[in-house]
Amino acid sequence: MKVLFACSEAYPLAKTGGLGDVGGALPRALARLGVQVRLLLPAYKTTLEKARPQGLKLLREFEVNQVPVKLWQSRLPGSRVPVWLVDIPEFSDRAGSLYGDDSGTDWPDNPYRFYLFSKVAEHIALNKVGLHWRPDVVHSHDWQVGLVPALLAGQQNAPASVFTIHNLAYRGIFDYQTFVDLQLPEHWWHYERLEFWGNFSFLKAGLVYADAITTVSPSYAQEIQTEQFGCGLEGVLVNRARQLTGIVNGIDTDTWNPGADPYLAVPYSRRTIKRKIHNKLALQRELGLPEDESVALVGFIGRLVEQKGVALILGALPALLSQARCQFVVIGSGQPEFEAALQELRSRYPQRVSVTIGYDESLSHRIEAGSDIFLMPSLFEPCGLNQMYSQRYGTIPVANFVGGLRDTIVNFSNFSDAIDAASMSALVNVDETGFLFSEASVTALSEALRHALTCFDNKLLWRKLQDNAMSQDFAWGKSARAYLELYRQTVSRTTQSNDAEDQATAL
Ligand code: ADP
Repeated sequence: MKVLFACSEAYPLAKTGGLGDVGGALPRALARLGVQVRLLLPAYKTTLEKARPQGLKLLREFEVNQVPVKLWQSRLPGSRVPVWLVDIPEFSDRAGSLYGDDSGTDWPDNPYRFYLFSKVAEHIALNKVGLHWRPDVVHSHDWQVGLVPALLAGQQNAPASVFTIHNLAYRGIFDYQTFVDLQLPEHWWHYERLEFWGNFSFLKAGLVYADAITTVSPSYAQEIQTEQFGCGLEGVLVNRARQLTGIVNGIDTDTWNPGADPYLAVPYSRRTIKRKIHNKLALQRELGLPEDESVALVGFIGRLVEQKGVALILGALPALLSQARCQFVVIGSGQPEFEAALQELRSRYPQRVSVTIGYDESLSHRIEAGSDIFLMPSLFEPCGLNQMYSQRYGTIPVANFVGGLRDTIVNFSNFSDAIDAASMSALVNVDETGFLFSEASVTALSEALRHALTCFDNKLLWRKLQDNAMSQDFAWGKSARAYLELYRQTVSRTTQSNDAEDQATAL
């Protein structure tokens, strides 16, 4: 099986969020199953710098729409997976982040940048650039490469196309003038194709034209077919329900391994869980909070945007911080009003709250290891990774019952204050790993947090939850096998329908 994996992020070469984690880990897991995978990635300025130590070889120079393209070959660090980097000045001559400038404003030419990237994917997929390599499947991810399935559809000898939705909320919507400027085929301007309420959507192109659609958890695959979670695309998804499946993301268990994590004060495992406490004390010290073993340390890592339920956190925490014995540690960046409100919370409770605005991979590892409870009150969550990292680190998640959170956390609900601590700990079943609340409200989050804090004080019970959480298998193996099976089925289905079309034409 040969797969061209077209993605705008792949850790550690390029990452802004969960997409980068998947782009870096899934190709490796597929390679381990014997898939011949080639990762196609934009040659962002920072990516070229990070790839250089692995070696950079100029593989091909060619033109796409009269634009000169350099294709560099490198390797995904720590693996043998070949990476093909698409070098056009729009990627390689730009400082800032992957999608915008340092102030967070998107580059105005993003549609053009990712249209060109998608055209390069199309050319490689059709074996037009002299690489003598033709994939069986092109697997593209999110709106940035949503055009790829559309560009391949109907082409002679095109490989099968698989499109994965990592977050439906980012639909890549642009106006009609952009559609005209990109010279996209006129017949795409139709509500059953790319047109979307007077604009057009890159993501919709993937949904309409891909031979198979996946998303990153079975629950999210169901949710996005409803008005509440469908972002206006639920109709398209209901129409394509037979081609839509949910495959839960795995995590990179080498990068996220508490037993060998270079960022931690003291490594630990399920068997040596007692050592986890040293990471809590070290984190309190690092962040200037009082060092206290017995206070519950609640952590949050993530983009500070509506989706992540930051408003719920801001609503629930003041009462909790003034009543219960807990500390709250956050790292993230995003909407300025959320950043400011969190800073304000910190100045009200300087002994209880630490806020780091920014992005820091190493601190995020230390928060996973040092916290007792991990907060994830997302309003929606396609899969979510932090709740899996936290379980692996023996940090118990408190999360909303949506999307991937419901598929990866098993709620401990058999709770009762009325019985003694030892009997209560016996109520924990072997599969229960966290606390889920079933309504995105401040009240529901507060209740779940109080519940978790009470359980935290019962050491026997807590140890059981930690043991359960750390025993979960979140490695990529199972999910990679599900993708491989899907590739096989899609190739066989598209080959059969191409054969049928050929026969019909011959008649
Ligand atoms: P999303 O992709 O919606 O942002 P996920 O939970 O799927 O959310 O993945 C987020 C990834 O980005 C995780 O690896 C998380 O640790 C990381 N991350 C998010 N914000 C930060 C931050 N401020 N500092 C370090 N890592 C972060």
